[in-house]
Parts: sequence; C-alpha cells; structure tokens
Amino acid sequence: MNDKSKAFFLRAQAVLPGGVNSPVRAFRAVGGNPLFIEKTNGSRVYDVDGNEYIDYVLSWGPMILGHNNPAVREAVLDAAQRGLSFGAPNEYEVKLAEKMVELTGCEMVRMVNSGTEAVMSALRLARAFTQRNKIIKFEGCYHGHTDSMLVKAGSGAMTFGQPDSPGVPDAVAADTLVAPYNNLEFVEDLFKNNDVACVIIEPVAANMGVVLPEEGYLNGLRKLCDEYGALLIFDEIITGFRLGKGGAQEYFNVKADIVTYGKIIGGGMPVGAYGGRKEIMSYVSPSGPVYQAGTLSGNPIAMAAGFAQLEQLDSDELYTHLGKMGEKLGAGLDNIAKELGMIACVTQVGSLVCQFFGIDSVKDYETARGADTALYAQYFQKMLASGVYLAPSQFEAMFISLAHSETDIDVTLEKAREALVGIRS
Ligand SMILES: *Cc1c(COP(=O)(O)O)cnc(C)c1O
Repeated sequence: MNDKSKAFFLRAQAVLPGGVNSPVRAFRAVGGNPLFIEKTNGSRVYDVDGNEYIDYVLSWGPMILGHNNPAVREAVLDAAQRGLSFGAPNEYEVKLAEKMVELTGCEMVRMVNSGTEAVMSALRLARAFTQRNKIIKFEGCYHGHTDSMLVKAGSGAMTFGQPDSPGVPDAVAADTLVAPYNNLEFVEDLFKNNDVACVIIEPVAANMGVVLPEEGYLNGLRKLCDEYGALLIFDEIITGFRLGKGGAQEYFNVKADIVTYGKIIGGGMPVGAYGGRKEIMSYVSPSGPVYQAGTLSGNPIAMAAGFAQLEQLDSDELYTHLGKMGEKLGAGLDNIAKELGMIACVTQVGSLVCQFFGIDSVKDYETARGADTALYAQYFQKMLASGVYLAPSQFEAMFISLAHSETDIDVTLEKAREALVGIRS
C-alpha cells in the first residue's frame, strides 16, 4: 500500500519540478511512484504509509553508520542548543577539519555545502594552480552538476566535450575533455594534444553502477599527471570514508593532489569539502588569490554531525567488517544469478556493491550502458514489494551500513532469489 506516498507525490508535482528535488528520486528509471519517507532507523527506512524496508540507498551513501545513529543525533541536538548558524568561525569546523586531516593525508581542507560545490571549487583551484584551462573527466563518472562536469564526449576521439544539459555553454563544455574509464592510452593522447590543468576521477566509479579501476590504472593516471605537470583530483565524495578511513587514496595506495569529499563527512547534513597539500590549498582565499566562499559553510550543526560520524569511523575493524558484509552480499547475489543461469555480473569493493543484469563484465560506461535496465526495473519493483529498498536505477550503488546485520543480508538474498525466480518464470 502506498496511498499516502501517491497523494504526497501529486501535491509535490504541483510545486516541485517532477515532484522532487533531485531527479533520480522520481523513480523514472524504474516506473511507479516514489515513496515518501517518514522516518529511518539503523538499516531501515519507513514510508508514510507505514511500510518498512531494508535500505541499500542510505541517503546515497552518507549513512554509513546506519540511519539515525545515536551519537550523531546527540551531537546535532547538542549543537542546536547553541544556535543554528553563526557565519563566524566555530570550534566544530576546526575539529572536523583536524579529524579529516588526521585520517585522509590532506594537509588542509576547505568546507563547503555540497559535493557539487566541492568539485566546482577544486576545479577552479586546479586551474589557478596550473594556470591552464583544460580538464579531463571520464565518461560515466558523476561529479555533481557544475557546468564543466555536465559534459559528454564530442563525436570522434579527439573532439572537445559537448554540453550534456541545455544551459551548459558550448564554450564551457569545450574545456572539458571526456575519456573512457580504464583507458590510459586515451588519456595520454589527450595530454599530448592539450594543455591540461587536471584530471578528475571517481577512483571507484559509483555513479554508472559500480565500476572498479583496473590494476595500475589509477597509478597510471598519477604518472601521466606528473609527467605533464597536471593535478590529479580524486572525487572521493562516495569513496571517502567508505573504502576505509583513508578512502580510495589509502585503499589503492595512490595520492591525489586535490580530493573532494561530501556525503559521509556530513553525517547526513549537507556538507562538502576539498583538501590537499598546503602548497595547493594555500591558493584559496583569503590565504591566496582563488576566490571561494560560503554563507553557511562550516555550519556548526553540520560540522558537529560530521565530526561525531568521523570519530566513530576511526576504526580499521569497522571497515574490515563492512568489507566482509559487502563480500557476503556481492557473492550471494552473484551465486543466485549463476544458479538461475542469468547473464549478470556483480562488482563489489568494501561496502559498495552493484549487480548488473544482461552483461557479464563491466569496465567503463560503454559496457555499463549495455545493462538490461528493463530487467532491473522489474527486479527493483519486486524487491520493493518484498521490503528491500534498492536504488531506483541500475546505474547506482548498493550501500551497506554498520547497522546492516547478517540477517538483513540473508533476508535480502532470499528476496533477491524470489524476485529473480519470479521474473524468469
Ligand atoms: C554525490 C556526488 C557528487 C555530488 O554531490 P552533491 O552533494 O549531490 O552535490 C559529486 N561526486 C560524486 C562522486 C558523487 O557521488
């Protein structure tokens, strides 16, 4: 039953474009009516019609400790007693920055309010630092909705990027060069033919489903950037504090020059950040010439939430456990598809999991795009009906939290089997 969600969605469509504040939430890729969530706890979300779901969206990643984590909630309530925004320096932002510096290897960070803002600012900084304009991004990687990242490959290997949304100026798109993921030669050619300021990448691509970097790929990008005097930007807005305390930099043992963060570092509050070596970060205003500001940046509530979350994440055992849960879910899903003789593949790293239907391997956007999205939509609807809330698109990740129990995973696998058997019969 989702009568109340339906009623809210009708009201929403009258006053919010498409009824939502971020497109994927509208369920367009899977059909049907988006659920309006009333409350959350641990591994569960509850909709306004009183249905309960095991959640693998986790607010698109931030809720790594589980929903409504008591310590994060307490930190927010405590901070709120002192006022909601100061527009002035406060202790919370210093504590969160110190914690991030301690765990990530960045020497300095600047807090902003979203991942998009972090990326936008990191790109400006890289361009200023190198005094070059061109940026290399990868097809299928998402870096938020700043103009220079809403760009698709032009036709023909060497042509400049084209706007991927109306409203993105051709001139802006032309400064973004788009390469296929996991293809070093392509990037090298781009470097040979252009003055490149920076390469920006999701070190694990998690916005075209989950696509892993091939052995040596990230290191290869590191070397190319060094050779051509460009900066390497890791967009760790998903992988940061997800793959481990030190994120993808630590997991793959590759250092980036600038790293962007979001999602997990806010504990569920709207936060982003970018960081790197002091030499680079000192270019940021007011210590340097690169302008970047924010009325609500370093907001005490958001900083308190982020700090309370990162304090709890400062544990290697926690990530070992999350990795085991990821393996259990990934291997389980893979086995079910194999037993049923379906063409499918599972990608998994730590607590990031994805199952693609209709393809038996994936390495870049082109292979990911071959996935059977109609089958995914059917699967999604069956899972939802049986109490498992997956991302409403094939091209997203499943996120596992510390609150997901072994039983949650077992139940999920049982429901997945039932769903897929139902689809095949
Ligand atoms: C979510 C995401 C962003 C954008 O962050 P917002 O807070 O939604 O603006 C950027 N990069 C990556 C890798 C993301 O997953």
